[in-house]
Amino acid sequence: MHRQTMINWIRRGWVKPKRDYKDWPVFTDECIAKIREWRETLKEEWGIAMINRPSGGYLMCPDCKTIVSNNDYTKGSTLINPKNPFPGCGHQSVRELWPRWDVLSLIDDFDITTLEHEEDITKIKLIFYCSSFDFLFESFLVNFLEKVNTQRQLIDYILDTNSEFPKRVALFNKLSGEKLKDVLKNNGFSDFGTQQRFLREKRNELVHKTFDIDFDILNKCFEVIERDMLKVFVFLHNKYISTR
Ligand SMILES: [Zn+2]
Repeated sequence: MHRQTMINWIRRGWVKPKRDYKDWPVFTDECIAKIREWRETLKEEWGIAMINRPSGGYLMCPDCKTIVSNNDYTKGSTLINPKNPFPGCGHQSVRELWPRWDVLSLIDDFDITTLEHEEDITKIKLIFYCSSFDFLFESFLVNFLEKVNTQRQLIDYILDTNSEFPKRVALFNKLSGEKLKDVLKNNGFSDFGTQQRFLREKRNELVHKTFDIDFDILNKCFEVIERDMLKVFVFLHNKYISTR
């Protein structure tokens, strides 16, 4: 769990750590149980964290950066065992979970304690899915820049100076020699491309307080995003980043 996430939870009073003799916060089993309970509440009552993620999750080979769905190939967690060759490349390194993020750390940016009604839940989903996309797109671009041997300091500079979405798309187009829109369209994700743009427009309306939207339309949009988000990034990753 991220340190900052924990700090935010303490600040909001969701967890109250006990203090040890040096006055450092100490987490008891009771605290951890409460956090688990709260995570489950988020899942069940709010439908958060329901982006389509196969039960086995995705794993990445650190040698060639190929991503596979754990349960496409095996039952249970045998693919996590590095003694078993990774599908396709046969590498035997310790696998990494993909994506490497804590879903809840994104939610921390938005004060969910103020939410009560369905409209609010729709709004948090809007913010959450947009943030998820931005996070995954940025991680993908970092991997792409690393693959073409860009130095770390330069990667930070490039991302800082291209923080707006259209500039990031232009960066992708430059690196790949293709247009993101066409890549999505030609690989069965045209629906996702359309809905992702719609989602971004609505998020901006929400931020600029001009939000007025048919919730049925937005819920249909969420369905496509939930179904395809991770699939899109697995596809892009394996097409442009994997060296297999
Ligand atoms: Zn590999």
